[in-house]
Amino acid sequence: MTELFYRSSRNPYDRLTASQAILKGIADDGGLYVPETIPKLSFDWETMTTWTYQDLALPILSAFLSDYSEEELKECIQAAYDAKFDDERIAPIVEVGQEYFLELFHGNTIAFKDMALSILPYLMTKAAKKNHIDKEILILTATSGDTGKAAMAGFANVPKTNIIVFYPKDGVSMIQERQMITQEGDNTFVYSIKGNFDDAQTKVKQLFLDQDLVAELSEKGYQFSSANSINIGRLVPQIVYYFYAYLQLLKRKNIKVGDSINVTVPTGNFGNILAAYYAKQMGLPINKLICASNKNNVLVDFFNEGTYDRRRDFFVTSSPSMDILVSSNLERLLYDISGQDTATTKNLMASLSTQGVYNITDAMKTKLSDFVAGQADEEETAKEIARLFDSYDYLIDPHTAVASAVYHKYQAETGDTTPTVIVSTASPYKFPSSIVRAIDSVHQEKTDDVDAIITINELSKIDIPQAVKTALTAPIRHQKTVTIEEMRSVVVDTLS
Ligand SMILES: *Cc1c(COP(=O)(O)O)cnc(C)c1O
Repeated sequence: MTELFYRSSRNPYDRLTASQAILKGIADDGGLYVPETIPKLSFDWETMTTWTYQDLALPILSAFLSDYSEEELKECIQAAYDAKFDDERIAPIVEVGQEYFLELFHGNTIAFKDMALSILPYLMTKAAKKNHIDKEILILTATSGDTGKAAMAGFANVPKTNIIVFYPKDGVSMIQERQMITQEGDNTFVYSIKGNFDDAQTKVKQLFLDQDLVAELSEKGYQFSSANSINIGRLVPQIVYYFYAYLQLLKRKNIKVGDSINVTVPTGNFGNILAAYYAKQMGLPINKLICASNKNNVLVDFFNEGTYDRRRDFFVTSSPSMDILVSSNLERLLYDISGQDTATTKNLMASLSTQGVYNITDAMKTKLSDFVAGQADEEETAKEIARLFDSYDYLIDPHTAVASAVYHKYQAETGDTTPTVIVSTASPYKFPSSIVRAIDSVHQEKTDDVDAIITINELSKIDIPQAVKTALTAPIRHQKTVTIEEMRSVVVDTLS
């Protein structure tokens, strides 16, 4: 296997191995580590239909994380994808009407972040060992709700690691908040902030690059890393389930070898759909990558017009994990469509940070033809939840509903009959009030999440996930709110 290196999307001379890139998280110049090439694997699809999720993860992770031994990766995979998941397929496909839902919420925290964050702590501790790091790792994470909990669950009590999470006080669901503030583990710390997710994410990126802070922490024996999807160790494990979806469709004889599929992805920070884009480049027959947004539609305008403009109103919606105006991982796509041009990528990102906007060239635009983008507003999202529940007894969460609604509009406009996988990113129980408002005309005014959970259970007969029961009953361990300006001193004080 040839060694695959990662470079900063803004500087071709900042080059690291996979394990170094995982430890580092973000490059010193603010760039994101990108693989220098996308490995192309040859696949014997028929044989692979008998593979488990774990079997499939090995060759894909090996290709991208080439400085890990096969033995090391096997250990990481076995430890990550075990009985924590309540479905042994890990990422099951469910056929509903004409579409296929890829359910990515069967892990610890019932959102798709578990798919990568179950394995990241193992990849990171192995990386620390390989690179002879004697310091403790300090994970700093901004979350729109799901990453924070999944990252803490992954890192809790992992030796020589600490994790600090910041979430927007009024930007997450009650269950999401309860999941975070009840987190156990002496090495986990959670703060709500006065601001939105973009404020938190921007500040966290600044702290990573704050050389005085880095030096101060280093003296205390800590070094930063990131569990956000800017970390390549988050992105690579997400490629696996796109292949696994294809194999399940083959196995079920929904498609034949070589047939193309579409994937529709509810998108926020652009990590999940970027993994699908990488899967396509590796040789997975994907026709269209359908990028679904809620009312925060900055990506829709980008794909349709070639202009990324974050100077717009920010909306809090029923799909909070997609309430994002600055989609970090888009930088990796820009790097790719500019012909791996780090100078262009750097200039575009500088323009975004100083002017709040950038325009891509026509040549770059033509390379976006794999993508389609659409949006669904709050009413369309609720209607989609109700439609699937009424017609098929299938309950989806608001993020998944955005994707499903966007797909149906796309299908109606184009008549595209390609078999389509809709990526289902969270359990409906994570956003209970929105679900009750969508499916229950009697309890429209019910906003109490606990009542809503009981109503959903009565109406749908779906078991209440253990993660929800725990979140509601476990003692609260974290409850401090801080301002954006205070985040820096909070990091220092937390570790003292
Ligand atoms: C994080 C998240 C998303 C958005 O995924 P990105 O990789 O950030 O685009 C969508 N749905 C849910 C439930 C999420 O937690």
